[in-house]
Amino acid sequence: MYNLTDYHIHSNYSWDAGQTINQIARKAKETGIKQACLTEHVDFHRNHPQSFMYLDTLYEEWTKTFENGKKIFPNLRKGIEVGEPYLHTGLYEKFIKGRKFDFIMASVHWIDGYSPVSDNYFTKYAPLKDAYKLYFDEVFKLVTYGNFDACAHLTLVHRNGKKFFPEFNYAMFKPELDDILKLMISKKIGMEINTSGLRFAAADFVPDREIIQAYLNFGGDRLVVGSDCHVIKDTFFGLEKAYKMFNEMGIKEITVYEDRQPRKVAIK
Ligand SMILES: [Zn+2]
Ligand SMILES: [Zn+2]
Repeated sequence: MYNLTDYHIHSNYSWDAGQTINQIARKAKETGIKQACLTEHVDFHRNHPQSFMYLDTLYEEWTKTFENGKKIFPNLRKGIEVGEPYLHTGLYEKFIKGRKFDFIMASVHWIDGYSPVSDNYFTKYAPLKDAYKLYFDEVFKLVTYGNFDACAHLTLVHRNGKKFFPEFNYAMFKPELDDILKLMISKKIGMEINTSGLRFAAADFVPDREIIQAYLNFGGDRLVVGSDCHVIKDTFFGLEKAYKMFNEMGIKEITVYEDRQPRKVAIK
């Protein structure tokens, strides 16, 4: 019934993922999904050698494997999820220069050497509200730098943070979130609705419905949907549920990208 799209997929060309591009392409074909976009991790932290520039040396091989995957599923797209490009502008700009991507999404995955999805990130802060405030301050810096197509999992801090700070809601961080949302809209940066939160403590979309509605109310119209899958069992997970919510919210179209140009697709 819905024209499902998944714009957050990690293959084994991401340092922390296991599924192959062929597995993803076959599942896309079998599921009847409309579009699937690889979004491989690109990270530049020298203190995290597992991820540092992982895709850089594999880029040519990845591109060939992607082209083969396209033979199985022609609506496969080639993208990356770059971590904190605003902190590594030189390396990031060099990484994308002369290379072709359909879609570039950006994230805040590390703050002062800690990941906002790990328990030890939260135990550092008292009051816990500060852990969230700091995360949103970093997202604001990310959006201020821009130079990418969509902002991934805007409220990632709450995916695991719900265990520590269940009282989080939009109203509590309205000034911070509104500044981010308005800046995204003015810079034509899309908002990813990430379904991985359904698999973690948050048990909800990341960001949640209230924040999606705020983005729409400010005039935002570039919604992107992604499962953030790293293993084949999670691929396309939660998409139906997301589209059902979009339908209830009166959202008619979702955005997809080709050669980094946005295009709208009717949700059904
Ligand atoms: Zn991410
Ligand atoms: Zn991801």
